[in-house]
Amino acid sequence: MLDEGSDQPKPSYKRVLLKISGEALMGDQGYGLHPPTVERIAAEVKSVHDIGVEICMVIGGGNIFRGLQGSAQGMERTTADYMGMLGTVMNALAMQSSLERLGVFTRVISAIPMDQVCEPYIRRRAVRHLEKARVCIFAAGTGNPYFTTDTAATLRANEMACEAIFKGTKVDGVYDKDPMEHDDAVRYDTVSYNDCLSKNLKVMDASAIALARDNNLPIIVFSLDEPGGFRGILAGEGTYTRVSGP
Ligand code: UDP
Repeated sequence: MLDEGSDQPKPSYKRVLLKISGEALMGDQGYGLHPPTVERIAAEVKSVHDIGVEICMVIGGGNIFRGLQGSAQGMERTTADYMGMLGTVMNALAMQSSLERLGVFTRVISAIPMDQVCEPYIRRRAVRHLEKARVCIFAAGTGNPYFTTDTAATLRANEMACEAIFKGTKVDGVYDKDPMEHDDAVRYDTVSYNDCLSKNLKVMDASAIALARDNNLPIIVFSLDEPGGFRGILAGEGTYTRVSGP
């Protein structure tokens, strides 16, 4: 969709939240951060920022530590979850660094206060950052154990009045079965929240989907590996699945 009199695509959304897993930042390494991959994703975010969309981000921590893994190895679950949340702060700082190298102003905003490192979460202040065209990277999940960053993303998207959550994944939408393992997997163009829950489709965890459903917040699942894909969808193009009501 092109804006009349301009060659800039006219975005279909004013404010969105991009959720990516920590694993999206590790490239082919199998663990941790892969700086060229972080930079590639930062460039995708910048291309959307350049067309005037206000952007919130939530990045998971699975490339560093997952609470469930820690507890399976005998660690106390709550401690393990706090370690997972700290991992998300590292990822957020890496993304901040890459975005700022590209000239995009950002704030890392943590649900667990750590003032020397980043800002504490104060909703009204975060909204003001968005209005000033700063990308807000929300770190440390919800600040509570037993949650995931998918739920944190849905919570922050609601609080920030985002029009949708963009969930960047390795595939271009939601399939009836894993498309990496099954050649006959079929992609949904649209799917309801309740179908995601009842068919256990791999979109987000159940708490996150229920929170999105109860607040009518659409979830757009798309491929982060497709160059220009994020911007394309905001301009009304590309392949993706839209999760919405009921
Ligand atoms: N976590 C948590 N509370 C939250 C968000 C995250 O305890 O609100 C912990 C949890 O241990 C989780 C880890 O942080 O396993 C990393 O988050 P997540 O698994 O959502 O990351 P992703 O799979 O998206 O990389």
